Amino acid sequence: MLLLRIPITNDNSTHFPLFPHTTLMRKRIALLPGDGIGPEVMAEAVKVLDAVAKKFKHSFTYEEAPVGGAAFDVCGEHLPQSTLDVCRRSDAVLYGSVGGPVNAQDQLKWKDAEKHAILGIRKALNLSINVRPAVVYNSLAHLSPLKDRIIEKGVDILIIRELLGDVYFGERGTKGKRAWDVMDYTEDQIAPVIEFACQAARKRRKNVTVVDKANVLDTSRLWRKVAGDISPRFSDVAVEFLYVDNACMQLVTHPSRFDVIATSNLFGDIVSDVAATLPGSLGLMPSASLGNKVHLFEPIGGSAPDIAGRGVANPVAQILSAGLMLRHSFGMESEAVAIESAVKQAIEQGARTGDIALKGEAVLGTKEMGDRIALLIDR
Ligand code: NAD
Repeated sequence: MLLLRIPITNDNSTHFPLFPHTTLMRKRIALLPGDGIGPEVMAEAVKVLDAVAKKFKHSFTYEEAPVGGAAFDVCGEHLPQSTLDVCRRSDAVLYGSVGGPVNAQDQLKWKDAEKHAILGIRKALNLSINVRPAVVYNSLAHLSPLKDRIIEKGVDILIIRELLGDVYFGERGTKGKRAWDVMDYTEDQIAPVIEFACQAARKRRKNVTVVDKANVLDTSRLWRKVAGDISPRFSDVAVEFLYVDNACMQLVTHPSRFDVIATSNLFGDIVSDVAATLPGSLGLMPSASLGNKVHLFEPIGGSAPDIAGRGVANPVAQILSAGLMLRHSFGMESEAVAIESAVKQAIEQGARTGDIALKGEAVLGTKEMGDRIALLIDR
């Protein structure tokens, strides 16, 4: 079922702006809440986007479409064509999460639901670059599994991962007692990742670490060559190289040394999950997947069936994903910063959902956390 939400307008009272000239930008957003906590946290992200639209005088129109188990219930598929159509006619896709309980994966509704949905969308929208921030908030540093003396130096890492190449998409096969997955890259696949990483570093601490295994792999040597070709155009950015095994060690012993990491699909899969442990909860971590035209934004966590339907999930990852959407799809940097600042402020003021609360701390529900953040945008 498709649901077209009423546009949020600059005067917040009618379906269409009374004074269109005061609306700075109009954007159409596909909402794919998915399963489990997806719809609960998505509602909070929309609440915050509405607050941004009001404050900055933009107009956001939402079109909702089912994906995953929610889509299977309606039409027997995890990624219906109608949902892809909604994505393609939108300016960006805000995705929730897909999947059922881990012990129900053999049911048709849940079997490969996550894979069908996200791989299908990745392919359809040609999402080739994944962007994952890993930030440890000072007031939540105690949640990190690392020692205080390591965490107190600060963690603010941006991981840029190639998404459509490598062993996942190379030639593969099994013959008797032999199996193979070919690691395959072209310069054209690598260049946009390095470019994106250098551009992102320029707005941050101006350091890019290319993670590879160039002591062994030809594909890694190609990554180094492409990085070497591109980096002179970014003379203000320092580009260094690190073997993936060393990078994983340093992520847990010395994470403050990293600014932007650029890497291949396989190494990015591993490195980004190592970094994901640093903030202490999946409920805090957003991501972006960038394509040719329409980009997709989603929390890195799953559908959390263990807490779904109870109104206790942390909406921050979904809200920060909306922030990434404003930055990377709409070029709304101030608006993205407004969301990130509101989240940081809410956390610094002590707003806690169950996943980030210490024993004895007051715990907010999903809606209350969303309210707090939306209110801070309004100010
Ligand atoms: P999960 O990420 O759903 O949950 C792991 C743990 O983190 C759970 O204890 C959960 O309660 C907690 N958690 C996750 N997000 C949270 C939030 N926002 N607030 C508070 N706590 C949160 O991983 P899982 O249990 O291994 O997988 C459940 C389902 O999600 C599976 O079907 C899996 O396939 C799917 N999944 C989907 C995606 C996706 O759609 N992108 C990603 C990962 C897993």
